[in-house]
Amino acid sequence: MIIQLENTIQNADILHIEQRVNSLGYQLNKVKTQFGQYLVAVGSAEFDIRKIGQLKGIRDIHRVSDAYKLVSKKWRVQDTEIDLGDGVKIGRNNLSIMAGPCAIENEAQITSTISHLNTNKIRIMRGGVFKPRTSPYAFRGAGIEGLKIFSAHCKANGIKVITEVMQADQIEEMMDYVDIFQVGTRNAQNFNLLDALGEVDKVVMLKRGFSGSIDELLQAAEYVYSNGNEKIILCERGIRTFEKAYRNTLDLNAVPILKEKSHLPVVVDPSHGVGLRNYIEPMALAAVMAGADGVIVEVHQCPEKAASDGQQTLDYKEAEQLYDRLRQTYSLKKSFNGF
Ligand code: PEP
Ligand code: MN
Repeated sequence: MIIQLENTIQNADILHIEQRVNSLGYQLNKVKTQFGQYLVAVGSAEFDIRKIGQLKGIRDIHRVSDAYKLVSKKWRVQDTEIDLGDGVKIGRNNLSIMAGPCAIENEAQITSTISHLNTNKIRIMRGGVFKPRTSPYAFRGAGIEGLKIFSAHCKANGIKVITEVMQADQIEEMMDYVDIFQVGTRNAQNFNLLDALGEVDKVVMLKRGFSGSIDELLQAAEYVYSNGNEKIILCERGIRTFEKAYRNTLDLNAVPILKEKSHLPVVVDPSHGVGLRNYIEPMALAAVMAGADGVIVEVHQCPEKAASDGQQTLDYKEAEQLYDRLRQTYSLKKSFNGF
């Protein structure tokens, strides 16, 4: 059960509601976010919710039986739209394309990518500076100094930055240089990191764990939301299966299911989801047809020379064709939905 409180509610009224709900055998959690105040009640007793709903200071009350509550669509029917400023919005009626290299390598690569993005009206650049690598000997990223240069060029060009944060103690130093914190697949259930990202007023994109269920992704999002941050994007990036013909199995089933279960925007990462350049475009277009609000793709001036993930990275020409076709596909999908 979710109890939405009036923003002006008095403490005494909160206490009164808490006592009433506790007396029904429900356990209560107080949540205060950028946008509202909620009491999330967990319990199973049947009762007439109108009796609670009429108490002073309550804006609305909703029964949500899922394990995740605040990220559920059962109480917020309208999809979430995230506003990054400067006209960049994610979710609801927007197609978001995020593009850039797997890893930030040097300044020339940053400026080259930005001019490619500008030409193609792409407003969000990806690029890791802290890279989780399977081998400790692989390139592990340009670090905070690389991020500062990445951010300065993006700010000067009205482009938003998405980059991975690997641990909670990096959040503060990264804060001023990031528009979207990406949580990588390997950190999908790092609950300390999720708690910490709930405490900042910054957009968070949660990648699905490579062995994580849809429900676990939603519960990870619930960690962030219930700690105070409503600005969350869900990302399907492929899961590990027995199939060896490609890097991961991009689970596009998850897209319409996530869209039905949650009000949060859903972005698909076909680059890691397939892991092979030739299949990125068809899977990206399929993601849009499945209902994704956006796509995040790896793009590099010269993929053969990329410091990481070159085999799944598009060159500029391939990327341009993809952006075009993504936009066409999105229009087609919208026409099916009749809006
Ligand atoms: C990435 O986006 O570069 C990345 C490492 O993603 P994932 O966590 O999905 O592997
Ligand atoms: Mn990568």
